[in-house]
Amino acid sequence: MDKIEHIGIAVKDLEASNALFAKLFGVPHYKVEEVVSEGVKTSFFKSGPNKIELLEATKPDSPIAKFVEKKGEGIHHIAFAVEDIVSELERLKGEGFVVLNETPKKGADNKLVAFLHPKGTNGVLVELCQEIKEG
Ligand code: ZN
Repeated sequence: MDKIEHIGIAVKDLEASNALFAKLFGVPHYKVEEVVSEGVKTSFFKSGPNKIELLEATKPDSPIAKFVEKKGEGIHHIAFAVEDIVSELERLKGEGFVVLNETPKKGADNKLVAFLHPKGTNGVLVELCQEIKEG
């Protein structure tokens, strides 16, 4: 695994949180993207070398809606950059981690992503993400 690619934060109101984080970082978000299949709307901030993803549920049965209902707003996942998501998933499965996505899926921000079950990672939802190369 490579560097932390971003940290995902679950929020109830993306618009209000965009304003809040813009104040925090001193820069506005640089993109908003909806991932319809996941029932989520995301926005991204860059602050120095750091990247933050805000996630708002777009439907009541979305994983983000369930998370906020259960735990409230807050850190939802930590995403690590990987060079080769398929081989990294194989490695992690071999180590006994529970993979939530057998096949990586298209996530926000031009990434292939897969998640590990937080049950096996001290309660932390871990996302692996690989940049989708153009062409
Ligand atoms: Zn993420």
